[in-house]
Order: sequence, then structure tokens, then C-alpha cells
Amino acid sequence: MNRVFGPVYSRRLNKSLGVDLVPFKTCTQDCIYCQLGPTTCKSLERKSYCSVPEVIGELEQSLEKVLPDFITLAGSGEPTLCSALGEVIAGIKKITSIPVAVLTNGLLLFQPDVRRELYQADVVCPSLDAGNEYTFQRVNKPVPSVTFETFLKGLIQFRKEFPGEIWLEVLLVRGITDNRDEIIQIAQCSAQICPDRIHLNTVTRPPSDSFVTGLTISELEEFASLFTPTAEVVADYPVISEVATSQEEINQDIILDILQRHPSSLLELTSTLGVSEGVIKNLLKDLIQQQKVEVFNIRGRELYRYMNK
Ligand code: SF4
Repeated sequence: MNRVFGPVYSRRLNKSLGVDLVPFKTCTQDCIYCQLGPTTCKSLERKSYCSVPEVIGELEQSLEKVLPDFITLAGSGEPTLCSALGEVIAGIKKITSIPVAVLTNGLLLFQPDVRRELYQADVVCPSLDAGNEYTFQRVNKPVPSVTFETFLKGLIQFRKEFPGEIWLEVLLVRGITDNRDEIIQIAQCSAQICPDRIHLNTVTRPPSDSFVTGLTISELEEFASLFTPTAEVVADYPVISEVATSQEEINQDIILDILQRHPSSLLELTSTLGVSEGVIKNLLKDLIQQQKVEVFNIRGRELYRYMNK
């Protein structure tokens, strides 16, 4: 499996080259909104899931072709579960000055060694989707041994120690965190963390639990002012890129690499890869026939998703 994927475009990180450090759905949580499906390996145990020289070698090759705004540790699971996290960030810093971002659910930040390994990153983007234990259990379904209090304390402690930027992501779910009481509790916890930026998001991709739906953009905009600093609404829409890859270089593996970490629409795939719709459509057709990819409809948007067998 390739460790480096993308570039992926997002409103938060613009053009980002992803580095995936853990096996598919290896995570400390099992969020009801997870776009990758149910967590198959829920654990608190950190393991050396990758070979650092291989990851850095792969990244060096990708950087010869792509100049991203960020190198982002993220992907198909929780990156802090990789015990080589600190070594990987140090290795990236040796080969490039491109800023390093880490997307994390933040659960392991109560552990001092995890916090220390993250010091070398430029931006850490943890999640805070709940403001109390009950909602935390409903939305994030963490490993049983970590309480909301422990999780929040870890985030607050990390803020005190980390010299880089913290961009907190708050993802709101219809029927659970779509009311002022819940959101005010999240905002109060967020105020204790003092993030540099707050990104307000909602469910826009096929979730793990099919009953889960998102809020409207106007609702997010209304709730944004409850946060300090005021949250930025990060609507999930594609950004049209310059040509990123040549037509001949696109193959099924490249498409699968993206869909495995990021269910995407046709427009997102064509934007990300910078090739014509026809080329992507043909590859998707073959992948659907091989039952490696399926089509999923969410709020009127057709998305393609990797079929994990
Ligand atoms: S959304 Fe992130 S933290 Fe939640 S289960 Fe999926 S991979 Fe894990």
C-alpha cells in the first residue's frame, strides 16, 4: 500500500499531500460520521506501523512532481497511533521546508510522549465534536478507557506546550449537536483549549452510521459566532486545481489510493487529478465492475467510495 497520496484539496489545508501512517480504520474512536466506515481495529496501543525510510523515500518521489501547501499526516486511521510519528515528522523536516500538518482526533494527547512527538509539526488539527461525556460517547465512541475529561485535559495541556498552530475542527451532527445547548458546551470547552482557529464542519460524505445527517450551511453560519475566535465554516466543496498529473499517469491505483482515504465526487476527482471527466469516468466504471468502488448518494451528491472487503 502506498503511504503517500494526493494531492487532496480542502478548504482547511488547500493543496495537501497526504501521508498515511496506519492500516485502514485503525483508530482510537469509532465516530458515527466517519466517512471510512466502522472502525475495524479500535485500540489505544501505539505500534510501529510503517518503515520511516520507506515513507520518506516515497514522499521525496512525490515532491518531485507536486508542490503542495502542506504535507498532511492523515488518511485511513488515527496517525498518532503510529509510534514512529515523531520520527516521520523529523524525517519530513530534513527533506523539505513545506509545513507539516497533522489531522488527529486528539484522543491520545493525554499521553506526554504523543504530545512531544507532535511538537515538530507546524499545525495540529484536533477534533472536538462534543462538550460532555454523554455526547462524546454517542458521537465519537472512543476506546472505553478514555473519558471526556481525560480527552479534554489532554487538549488543554497540549495547547500549553505546543509552539505551533492549533486548528480545532468541530463537526456537528443533526439530532445530537444541532442545538444551542450542546454547541455552547462545545464552545466552552474550546475556549479552554484556546485554538488559533476553529473550523466548523458537518456531515457531507457517506457516514459510518447511515442515519447520521448534517446541518445546513446557514445553520453552521449561525452557530459560528458562539465560538471564540469565531468559527470558520468549512463547507466541503471541491477546489479546481491546475493540472496536477498527466493524463497518461492516471490509473486505477491512483483513484483507489484517493478513494480509500477520501470518498469523492467525480468533480473532486477530476479537480484533484487535473484530467478530463471522461478518463476518470472510464476508470471508475472498471473499478465499479470489479467491485472495488461503489457509488453512494448523500444529500443529492453522488460520491464514489472504496469498497473495503
Ligand atoms: S472520523 Fe477519524 S477519528 Fe473518527 S473513526 Fe474515522 S478515522 Fe477515527
